[in-house]
Amino acid sequence: MTNHQIIFEHKTYNVKQLFTAAQLQERVKTLANEINAQYKKDEPVIVLIVLHGAILFAADLIRGLTMPTGIESIRLQSYHGTSSTGTVNMHGSLPESLTGNHVLIVEDIIDSGRSIHMLVDKIKQVNPKSVRIATLLDKPDAHEFDVNADFIGFKIGKNFVIGYGLDLDGRYRNLPYVGEMIPA
Ligand code: 5GP
Ligand code: MG
Repeated sequence: MTNHQIIFEHKTYNVKQLFTAAQLQERVKTLANEINAQYKKDEPVIVLIVLHGAILFAADLIRGLTMPTGIESIRLQSYHGTSSTGTVNMHGSLPESLTGNHVLIVEDIIDSGRSIHMLVDKIKQVNPKSVRIATLLDKPDAHEFDVNADFIGFKIGKNFVIGYGLDLDGRYRNLPYVGEMIPA
């Protein structure tokens, strides 16, 4: 199903829905229950939201968590347009509350794995009680770094996707579905 036509760098694309808003809501609810099952009911967990991409996913996911949950965020940047720049830029420093606590990283998508690999390394340096990763999307065929997400919403191919928080050069994060850009 095509809902949107977008023009990017003078080319026209149709956005083909991969996951509808309803499918996303249903999967995120189930994922929250999978996460609940892996933690003790009364032990606090700090959710570390990777901005900006994971913001919609995290907002929906957190509502389904049953342990005492804290929220922190960190901004990482690696993409320019539809291609990775190969370097990861972390804005600011890690929140102090990660030390001594269970940390659940919430990410929009794992592509090469570079961003999450770097982030996990940095988090381990501040001595959390545990570090786990929840990602809405995973592109296993694109991995170049050793990363194993503990909780994965959907596995997808290598194509660039947008919507539900994922951007095209900073835009289209508002689309309620996840879609693939197909040249028109
Ligand atoms: P990695 O470091 O794993 O190569 O890339 C991770 C980051 O690149 C993601 O957190 C996301 O912000 C961005 N990214 C990777 N693949 C896509 C994609 O298909 N669409 C969008 N919008 N962003 C992506
Ligand atoms: Mg991201």
